[in-house]
Amino acid sequence: MKLICIGRNYAAHAAELGNERPTEPVVFIKPDSAVLPKEQDFYIPEFSNEVHYEVEVLVKINKVGKHIAQKFAHKYYDEIGLGIDFTARDMQRSLKAKGLPWEKAKGFDGAAVIGKWLPKSQYENVDKLAFQLKKNQEVVQEGDTALMLWKIDELIAYVSSFFMLKKGDILFTGTPAGVGKVSPNDYLSGTLEGEEMFSINVR
Ligand code: ZN
Repeated sequence: MKLICIGRNYAAHAAELGNERPTEPVVFIKPDSAVLPKEQDFYIPEFSNEVHYEVEVLVKINKVGKHIAQKFAHKYYDEIGLGIDFTARDMQRSLKAKGLPWEKAKGFDGAAVIGKWLPKSQYENVDKLAFQLKKNQEVVQEGDTALMLWKIDELIAYVSSFFMLKKGDILFTGTPAGVGKVSPNDYLSGTLEGEEMFSINVR
């Protein structure tokens, strides 16, 4: 199982990190060992002093596919979720400055929070899903999939032109503006269309 993640898919978030609006999706992979086990607290890794939360809508791939046409992409998922792409921002910044891969900053153990899954059929339109992240009960990130630069079906078509998608793979669709640092004892919770999808303690 692989986690395929999209960077800079919301213009306001790209701008807050000083990145240009990309001309094609920014793609990276997290290993399956990055998945934070269910009910487990998130431990800030010792190699970073600036771990950021990034709340993202998730899509679970339901069958094998390669070079998937955008018009058929909807057949490759029937569950939607919400999660966090934890990022060691200080490390990512220095790796980026040196032109090196970001994997260490994005793929460390526990760096992928995956909340519960809900059937896609529950939603009228996956391209219009409101979501938010609260830190210690205060809203820190708010987004809507309508604001994605590349919509879910476009992302599936794009990503599958490089990587064969397999059943169980998870697509992290990018984070909206408002990313920020976590500290020990923070409590994070995410909602999708008003429903709580995950909650975690930071240690
Ligand atoms: Zn992200």
